Amino acid sequence: MYHPDKHIREAMQFAESLGWTFTEAGPHGHAYGFLYCPHHERDGCIVTVYSTPKTPYIAAQRIIRKVKKCPHGDSENEQLRIRNNPR
Ligand SMILES: [Zn+2]
Repeated sequence: MYHPDKHIREAMQFAESLGWTFTEAGPHGHAYGFLYCPHHERDGCIVTVYSTPKTPYIAAQRIIRKVKKCPHGDSENEQLRIRNNPR
């Protein structure tokens, strides 16, 4: 499941390093797949990854910006960390 574009690949790796998960899209449509934020609920964030964006670098920036804007990941991981390692 390697995206053909390097910029998009890096953006996806960035998302996954923050706990996001990638799901490949079906064979129809323009989407390559979807990135889901660590908050796996209906109000969690979803970022669409396109297979052939016109400007891959811009598309990658868009993914990174959305991932950074996600309000769920960090705080939840932090709470988990505190719960698992009480001091
Ligand atoms: Zn989120």
